[in-house]
Amino acid sequence: MNELKTIRLKPGKEESLGRRHPWVFSGAIASMDDGIEEGDCVAVVTAGNVTVGVGHYQIGSIAVRMLEFGVASLSEDFFRRRLEEALRLRRTLGLADFHNPERLTDCYRLVHGEGDFLPGLVVDIYGNTAVMQAHSPGMHFARDVIASELTQLSGAHIRNVYYKSETTLPYKAMLDPQNEYLIGNYDGNIATENGLKFNIDWLRGQKTGFFIDQRDNRALLEKFAKGRRFLNLFCYTGGFSVYGMRGGAESVVSVDSSAKAAALTDANIALNFPGDPRHRTEATDAFRFLSEMKKDEYDLIVLDPPAFAKHRNALKRGLLGYRRLNAKAFEKIAPGGILFTFSCSQVVTKEMFRMAVFTAAAQSGRRVRILHQLTQPADHPVDFSHPEGEYLKGLVLYVE
Ligand code: SAH
Repeated sequence: MNELKTIRLKPGKEESLGRRHPWVFSGAIASMDDGIEEGDCVAVVTAGNVTVGVGHYQIGSIAVRMLEFGVASLSEDFFRRRLEEALRLRRTLGLADFHNPERLTDCYRLVHGEGDFLPGLVVDIYGNTAVMQAHSPGMHFARDVIASELTQLSGAHIRNVYYKSETTLPYKAMLDPQNEYLIGNYDGNIATENGLKFNIDWLRGQKTGFFIDQRDNRALLEKFAKGRRFLNLFCYTGGFSVYGMRGGAESVVSVDSSAKAAALTDANIALNFPGDPRHRTEATDAFRFLSEMKKDEYDLIVLDPPAFAKHRNALKRGLLGYRRLNAKAFEKIAPGGILFTFSCSQVVTKEMFRMAVFTAAAQSGRRVRILHQLTQPADHPVDFSHPEGEYLKGLVLYVE
């Protein structure tokens, strides 16, 4: 293996790396060998020339995403070993049991970036298809190796690998990635989650096609649904709605501002509960729907909006958004109602979100108790060294 080009840190800038935080910020770099290009694997050394490890270089505030610590080069089988580890963890969770025809869930996240020690890479599995997203140029260049390892490791169970990075790679890197199959082709897009069926549209859908990260929270909602009038706001593919139907809700209304999302929800309801009159979909703005609906019309409400604060500088406005949205829900939900409320903004911490919801509750004058505190499921692990990987927060509230 060729020796890697080297990035040298400023004195003292190795501290967070010593705790295995996987990012090198551009401000920590003292010097770089000539000819380092975006996406290259580079060796990182301290000011005193001690090896820190190897990572992918890119232009931007996060300059290196570390792949391996304590080595000066990557072994040939680096991706294989990392993917094997990721697969082993999913097997531990009972998720990647390819040969069990009875299995109730065949969609899950196989690689969760830093949480699987593969910063810049996301892989979601839907039945026989892996949908792969690169968030760094280095992972973009490694895409074919990763795709081929995925099919081999799964014993050819994963037959299709769809690469979907048109919107996830830094635009300035000018890599011009195509969304395309690296291996195989489309062969049916119905995935099973806890025994429920979902059409997954990774070609046109948001992210990799489905919000796998709400699986456990949807299962919890099912337990609260019996006999309730359920309003699912920001429904996207109708995940919560389908669980609510199985849980025995009296009625289910799904709302999304996107007509495409509303159609996806209808399709998923039809797949599981054909002709069931309990469900209807509204393609409209959730804030408007909440403002216009009558009081006490619903006694189970889900609020799962898109990230209101995508960056730190949008934090204040984002928090205000969560407060307003939740305040409207508190104002309208029936006494004895259950509210599932979420934030997937990574920059909004658990504490901030809780404060925003608490403020909304206080404003409404309702007495509110926390029943559950929710987060992302175990196939979205959070590396202790990289707390930024924890992004999904939710509360289940009892509103008197
Ligand atoms: N709850 C979903 C995921 C929600 S993603 C699940 O379990 O899969 C967020 C959704 O909010 C997207 O589908 C988006 O179209 C929708 N959305 C964004 N802004 C909206 C608005 N103002 N009103 C209603 N829906 C909105």
